[in-house]
Amino acid sequence: MAKQKINRLIIGTNNKGKLREIRRLLPKNIKIHSTSEFNLKSPIENGKTFKENSLIKSKYFSKKTGLICLADDSGLEINILNKKPGIHSARWGGKNLDFNKAIKRVYREIKKKDKNWKDKKLKARFVCALSLCNLKKKIACVEGIVNGIISKKPKGKNGFGYDPIFIPENKNKTFAEISPKEKYKIDHRFLAFKKIKKFL
Ligand code: IMP
Repeated sequence: MAKQKINRLIIGTNNKGKLREIRRLLPKNIKIHSTSEFNLKSPIENGKTFKENSLIKSKYFSKKTGLICLADDSGLEINILNKKPGIHSARWGGKNLDFNKAIKRVYREIKKKDKNWKDKKLKARFVCALSLCNLKKKIACVEGIVNGIISKKPKGKNGFGYDPIFIPENKNKTFAEISPKEKYKIDHRFLAFKKIKKFL
């Protein structure tokens, strides 16, 4: 197959935290557009998996702009909650994406399942699906996963979303306590990006 040369693309997200992280991962020679330049709302994410939802976004934003689109869908899966919040991770933050509210809900639901949970190590993982589409055509769709545990209380001020409650494997700090520079090198988006970069 001939090597694809992409010199312009749109990042298919309205989430500023994700936009910043994906922008940092892309090679500097690619001209990057954001959805805010086009005043586009996000499509309804009614897929059943991270991969399906990332494809819904990359096809939608590509069709709306005529640009190749790189979109992600990501979230936190917690074992004791049967993988919740999972693909509904953003929704747990409510309309205003209030992650203090989402984090409180995580702790509330965990406590309902096991009131002694703080004596245990609760396994969790961040998952990121990244997909690249040109109009309706899928160029690639991959997934990156980082395993870890849930912190007994929120810690740290960096990052976004559920970062304050996730401690990645082999570290003793939450994602929000780790510097952004260090997080980019180990997180689920970086691992997915490593798989998709050959298509750029
Ligand atoms: P969506 O992919 O736009 O549906 O949103 C995924 C949600 O998962 C985000 O709004 C965050 O709450 C959460 N999430 C995804 N990646 C991260 C991360 O790296 N750190 C913290 N939260 C994340």
